[in-house]
Amino acid sequence: MILFQDQIVEKTTVQISPDDRGYYFGDGIYEVFRVYNGELFAKEAHFERLIRTAAATKIQLPYSIEELTANLNKLLYAERIGEGIVYVQITRGIAPRAHPFPVNSVPVVYAYCIEVKRPLHSMKQGITALTLPDIRWLRCDLKTLNLLANVLAKQEALDGEADEAILHRDGWVTECSASNIMMVKAGVLHTHPANHLILHGITRAIVLKIAAELKLPIVEEAFNLEALRTADEVFITGTTVEVTPVIAIDHAKVANGLIGSITLQLQQAFELKFLR
Ligand code: PMP
Repeated sequence: MILFQDQIVEKTTVQISPDDRGYYFGDGIYEVFRVYNGELFAKEAHFERLIRTAAATKIQLPYSIEELTANLNKLLYAERIGEGIVYVQITRGIAPRAHPFPVNSVPVVYAYCIEVKRPLHSMKQGITALTLPDIRWLRCDLKTLNLLANVLAKQEALDGEADEAILHRDGWVTECSASNIMMVKAGVLHTHPANHLILHGITRAIVLKIAAELKLPIVEEAFNLEALRTADEVFITGTTVEVTPVIAIDHAKVANGLIGSITLQLQQAFELKFLR
């Protein structure tokens, strides 16, 4: 079953218009929620980001957050999802192709949920990454459907036998194709500030809060590729990846190529706080 507008229906019964602006322009926004124990995790933060993205892109949310929450919960119940994700997207609506916002078009809401297990293997063993130029636009803080640059970066990483792409602007590391990045150097946690150049990851914010509780020193400033290559620990954060170590970058090991102690500490604190 899926959520289409405000109805829970079979996916095969839904017809998407070829005139949907999501299809022509990527003119839409989205969110991905984690589901733990059958419940939407950190839902307030995700809805806040959705509201902020909707406002910045001038897409009118057609339902209230209360209605949307109730419908997503119905969907989760219908699909009996315990551990998974919910994907929600809202496009500007349906109209013949033309750049100006259409008058009187109704935004199109679509959501699905699927089971996704916690990536325990890669959280323990780590992943590899390639560094690539960040060729995206200057509003990476908005969660919009225009992900072509992210898609190209991810595929280039995979084609280069790596798991994720670490993006940089003129040598300054921003984030990854589908996750935020942090590094540890001399006991200090470094990550890019939450400005227009990165997505303000919900997991990023949670991890920074946990790090502050653990009294780890935090520097929210851009760091460069040289600092990244000589880091003691590097890890990515995201709704599905949680806290996953990066053990090699551009085919060279990060430190000794094993999960670092602070990464492990943050993983354990996350589990203790939310999953016990
Ligand atoms: N940056 C990008 C580009 C992303 O696509 C994502 C989400 N997968 C993130 C960061 C992480 O955000 P969150 O923790 O909210 O999932």
